[in-house]
Amino acid sequence: MKKITILGSTGSIGINALSIIQKNPDLFKVIALVANKNFSIMLRQCELFSPDWVAMRDEKSAHILRKKLKNSKINTQVLTGEKDICALAALEETDHVISAIVGMAGLLPTLSAIHAGKTILLANKESLITSGYFFMKALSSSGAKIIPIDSEHNAIFQVLPLEIQKNLGKTTLEKNSIKHLVLTGSGGPFYKFSSSDLSNVTPDQACSHPNWLMGKKISVDSATMMNKGLEYAEARWLFNALESEIKILIHPESIIHSMVQYYDGSLLAQLSAPDIRTSISYAMSWPDRICTEVDYLNFYKINNLTFFEPDFTQFPCLKLAIDAFSQGQASMTVLNAANEIAVSSFLDSKISFTKIYEINMEILMSSCFSEPKCIQDILEIDRKVRILAKNKVSSLIF
Ligand code: NDP
Repeated sequence: MKKITILGSTGSIGINALSIIQKNPDLFKVIALVANKNFSIMLRQCELFSPDWVAMRDEKSAHILRKKLKNSKINTQVLTGEKDICALAALEETDHVISAIVGMAGLLPTLSAIHAGKTILLANKESLITSGYFFMKALSSSGAKIIPIDSEHNAIFQVLPLEIQKNLGKTTLEKNSIKHLVLTGSGGPFYKFSSSDLSNVTPDQACSHPNWLMGKKISVDSATMMNKGLEYAEARWLFNALESEIKILIHPESIIHSMVQYYDGSLLAQLSAPDIRTSISYAMSWPDRICTEVDYLNFYKINNLTFFEPDFTQFPCLKLAIDAFSQGQASMTVLNAANEIAVSSFLDSKISFTKIYEINMEILMSSCFSEPKCIQDILEIDRKVRILAKNKVSSLIF
């Protein structure tokens, strides 16, 4: 039985992971759950899964949850704050940690799980792309394993040789006869919109992805295609891929979730309905497979699969992320922090959709940080950029 901690259990990934655990109680046991403020969902999760521990990042929410658990006579211990979250990520009783906190807030807990040698089921791409070298080095020195949950990376992982699956990031694609990886992306809800249509789109429209049901931040990132840019960076680190070894392909139907081109001409792809439970369950059960309630594909109904080259003028955030990656770690960390502030300001209706790119671009162009030498340097860059980005947002409002 795999013993699991879920960082971000009340979010879209966390809830889907728990639905898989609920269907397979003899395979998985929940040891600890972590969230921020959503004590109502956390209470329900405690009733259903009886974890030994939970942590709420927000102190007030932890306090309310503690009272409610006591009234319901549930014995789960409630912790709070980042230090305790990191401690739960490293619990001795756990062997698998699902990293599904949204944004940079997932960095330290994920690193804590890595240092403790856990198997990391990674959804929180922001932690990897903001700390790439340090993240991969920690994996290598602690002996921790990593399995991607992000559907594109999970698809690639599924069609890679076992040797690479076991040694992600440590071997080269070339050594394994791989010419390149093809990252697919739907193009998001605004794929057919013109630039002028984009200036008036609302947060609700941006969060209505045509194929996937996800949390708000990644939904907006999908609408700007920043998400594909972050995934590009994620793939570069995870698969130790060179710039020339990654291609991006727009595939609006989201049936092919990514592909691996081998030297012999074979192109191996993973196909499934666009339902994240397939990726999560594969990561959780690897190297085996388990049943899910995901619909099987029916090719008589699918009819048509289409593919297009990405248009950087329509989706400038995608280009910005690819360029930031090639500039270095400081630039990638800057871009991620600026983007987190810009996206949350858009979701709060403080700025328009098109301002997300403008803020990201201006902050990236105007900031000049030296390359980080340790995680503390990364946290410092992130802290400073958030202030810059918030000031930029305020200057746009007033
Ligand atoms: P959601 O917004 O749905 O959930 C985020 C989770 O993180 C919630 O449980 C939230 O708690 C928790 N959280 C937020 N801030 C903190 C904090 N400071 N400390 C502790 N917990 C915190 O996001 P998603 O599930 O959609 O995405 C999570 C991650 O997975 C992202 O990095 C995303 O890019 C990635 N991902 C998601 C996919 C999807 O299908 N949703 C697909 C591929 C990758 P609370 O509810 O209390 O706020």
